Amino acid sequence: MLNNVRIVLVNTSHPGNIGAVARAMKNMCLDQLVLVQPAQFPSAEATARAAGADDLLARARCCNTLEEAVADCGLIVGASARLRSGRILEQDPRACARQVMQTSSHTPVALVFGREQSGLTNEELERCHALVHIPSNPDYSSLNLAQAVQVVAYELYMAHQDGEWSGSPPEFPLCTAQAMENFYTHLEQALIDIEFHNPNRPSQLLHRLRRLFQRAQPDTHEVGILRGILSAAQDKARAARSED
Ligand code: SAH
Repeated sequence: MLNNVRIVLVNTSHPGNIGAVARAMKNMCLDQLVLVQPAQFPSAEATARAAGADDLLARARCCNTLEEAVADCGLIVGASARLRSGRILEQDPRACARQVMQTSSHTPVALVFGREQSGLTNEELERCHALVHIPSNPDYSSLNLAQAVQVVAYELYMAHQDGEWSGSPPEFPLCTAQAMENFYTHLEQALIDIEFHNPNRPSQLLHRLRRLFQRAQPDTHEVGILRGILSAAQDKARAARSED
């Protein structure tokens, strides 16, 4: 199950941090490392800091976008140095590890870590189902990237050690990130077609809906129903327009 858990690093600036993350991961039996547009990779500094975990670096997958890095995942958790007031589930690493272990017994899971300088953008956080925050000094809460990975990976390892996580799989698989993106595209078009949403007028509507559905973590069957409703509404709108 730990092999169904990937660590995703977004736009890492310092190659040394990538190496230190590989080391932290290997210590805790994680080996799926995905890099989204790292500033410098491969790099001698990363290899040196990996200290024997360079096999992880050699197998690391590089992607151009976060979307690509998590496309097949059913659970995406963003690691945030700051508590966010948004309506997204925030967990400490222990609670997060339990959820990750439960889900990873049947679905690929991504833990996403942000840039050293600025963390994750709002748009990136919108792709997450939950956030993990390492409780820390409220006035100085930002850990070094590799140390943050270490704490989260340790809790995953402990949860893996003491849990029996291979319960019966859910009736339908969780919707993957790629399928959710297709759903959001359909949702936006349907809202335009039924004239509920005007794409020329700025609004928070699509962001709010996205947060709502990410929080719900629908399975493939549920998203199929939602898309069926959208298509029916689009058909009605089209028919009404052609009658005019
Ligand atoms: N200055 C940035 C933090 C960058 S630290 C900010 O304020 O957002 C680099 C990354 O390490 C963060 O994006 C996050 O993924 C992780 N990280 C650092 N401290 C953390 C904490 N206390 N809890 C969870 N993740 C943390």
